[in-house]
Amino acid sequence: MQSWTVPAPATVPAQSDRLRLMDTSTGELRHPGTEGAASLYVCGITPYDATHLGHANTYVSFDLLQRYWRACGYPVSYVQNVTDVDDPLLERAEATGVDWRELARDQTELFRTDMVALNVLAPDHYVGATETVDWVVETVSRLVQNGTAYTVPGQGEDPDGDVYFDIGAAQSATDWTLGSISGMSPEQMAEVFPERGGDPERPGKRSPLDPLLWRAARSGEPSWDGGPLGEGRPGWHIECSAIARRLLPVPFSVQGGGSDLKFPHHEFSAAHATAVDGQPLARTFVHAGMVALHGEKMSKSKGNLVLVSNLRREGADPAAIRTALLSHHYRSDWEWTEDSLPEASARLSGWRHALEREEPGDAQALVSALHGTLSDDLNAPAALVDLDRWAESTAARTGSPTAAHQELRVSAVVDALLGIRL
Ligand code: ZN
Repeated sequence: MQSWTVPAPATVPAQSDRLRLMDTSTGELRHPGTEGAASLYVCGITPYDATHLGHANTYVSFDLLQRYWRACGYPVSYVQNVTDVDDPLLERAEATGVDWRELARDQTELFRTDMVALNVLAPDHYVGATETVDWVVETVSRLVQNGTAYTVPGQGEDPDGDVYFDIGAAQSATDWTLGSISGMSPEQMAEVFPERGGDPERPGKRSPLDPLLWRAARSGEPSWDGGPLGEGRPGWHIECSAIARRLLPVPFSVQGGGSDLKFPHHEFSAAHATAVDGQPLARTFVHAGMVALHGEKMSKSKGNLVLVSNLRREGADPAAIRTALLSHHYRSDWEWTEDSLPEASARLSGWRHALEREEPGDAQALVSALHGTLSDDLNAPAALVDLDRWAESTAARTGSPTAAHQELRVSAVVDALLGIRL
């Protein structure tokens, strides 16, 4: 699938890697295990109702991580998927009378446009589920062969041939245990599983939480030739597992996504990979917080969405949207209000004015200050305060700017580390 293009940020003097990130699976701040090279998988959108501020918050958060690594001089391998066939997409297409392929294509294009506007560096591989069915078939077939997947007999409206992951068998055969990635209790998992696409009531499953790997063809639904699995389509968690294992070195540095993906999505993507490979999928699991509107988490199902494209249409500066997002720590849950954008715009404007008073050495000092601040679990809000302080420090200056043309400039540093275009 076509990715998008964002100009490469300026190269800054190579910074030392002192990064500590909160790893969901251990609950501890730790170095993500990069040794001279970094690899990142961030779960992509299901392409409908893109791109709301919750999405934007996630992709801007992991864009910070990529920019941090680049400032350390690391090559970064970054993969993102698009879940361009799944129940919610098909339901929306059906409800609105639009072909699901057209809906997916249009919303994916809108997402790309929003990412370019928000200055989010593109993944090296941007991959659709519909492009990788063969990878899923191969992975699920191996799980069936090694006894960690099973076929559920048809019943009622469900045909023969749905394939599920066997949690119990996988726990016996591997080091993975249920909850070891998400850090959630059995009660928490049981509560959110049905809210996030799970089907605990499906008759014939060995455990209520066993997740779907392969959905046998139903009339009126798209399906693909699954070879030994029969006609059907991929489950959600196995999609990311198969794509990540194919395109990144396993275990890769960071598996990322919104905190609503901890369970079941990341728990089972990792479990599937471990059941195939006998080793962890990723070294570190990192999750971005949720954005709320009017007191409730912004979500498609609640319909309380603020879309990046609408803000842009209303004239918002994308750099101000990005500044508003980075004003909150990536792990925090926070609320978008009518003040969010004006406040961000005012700060941005202060920084832009300060550029007129930039002096030699400012950029050098800022690059090490910002990088040091970001080393502490990507503390962007504190980095923005660093920038405020710098802008304030220029206020007393008089005379014309003296920064030389060819040297590193503050605007290049802010773009390289924070992705904010001044
Ligand atoms: Zn995923």
